[in-house]
Amino acid sequence: MVTPEGACYTPARESARPPGRAATRNFFAMARRRQLYEGKAKILFEGPEPGTLVQYFKDDATAGNGAKKGTITGKGVLNNRISEYLMTRLHEIGIPTHFIRRLNMREQLIREVEIIPLEVVVRNVAAGSLATRLGITEGQRLPRSIIEYYYKNDQLNDPMVAEEHITCFGWAATQDLDDMVALTLRVNDFLTGLFLGVGITLVDFKLEFGRLWENEEMRIVLADEISPDNCRLWDAKTGEKMDKDRFRRDLGKVEEGYQEVARRLGILPEAGPRDMSGPEVMQ
Ligand code: 5GP
Repeated sequence: MVTPEGACYTPARESARPPGRAATRNFFAMARRRQLYEGKAKILFEGPEPGTLVQYFKDDATAGNGAKKGTITGKGVLNNRISEYLMTRLHEIGIPTHFIRRLNMREQLIREVEIIPLEVVVRNVAAGSLATRLGITEGQRLPRSIIEYYYKNDQLNDPMVAEEHITCFGWAATQDLDDMVALTLRVNDFLTGLFLGVGITLVDFKLEFGRLWENEEMRIVLADEISPDNCRLWDAKTGEKMDKDRFRRDLGKVEEGYQEVARRLGILPEAGPRDMSGPEVMQ
């Protein structure tokens, strides 16, 4: 596969290269491009064409709005692949997304969108902040899926907000919100089935959306990523957690959880975990 930068991506070559050289290459490739934004788990660079960005997945992990920091080895590589896989499957059923294609182990090409400052959380099973806030036993299946909105603002700790706040403060118009809810419900239906097919319960997850402008027309598209960083994924039989809660709650075997999700989806790099620290940018 030849990327717009002229970079070649071939999995076989990736695993054949020594990590040292790769890290050096990666440093120069990253230094050459203009960095636009650095978040807790990802970096955004200017893309090769107008209207595109390169999304780089880091191994850095944070919890509690940055109160806990750490590294999950290979997380960036796995999340890049898992998100590519899920966004591609969603595209196939007509969900518009910002994803264009994966460029290499840690980077994907995406469309530049105007991010709507909301986190849309869907819950199928009680867990996390819902269980804590309402005193509900974790693991209890909800009578129906619940959608919640959080205002994306680190200083305020991403507070939960109502539709009234969203439209009153102009974060999104009523029509935008309707589109987001409709897309979220379809994503939830599809992903619930997809994960169940590989023995995983989709407990809850967080989505982000953006406005994509094309010829004066605006449409809402799915943005950010879908990965074990922002989904709760439990083994359907044992209830074992395979997501970022292993890091948040110091449960151990964090890397293994992410790898298991990739393995069940059939997208774990062929050489297994050894591939995780492999080359990152091919020139
Ligand atoms: P909770 O509100 O229970 O903490 O999180 C609900 C779901 O949304 C979980 O799957 C969690 O991973 C995801 N989520 C909520 N807020 C964030 C966030 O700020 N970052 C990430 N990565 N995921 C989040």
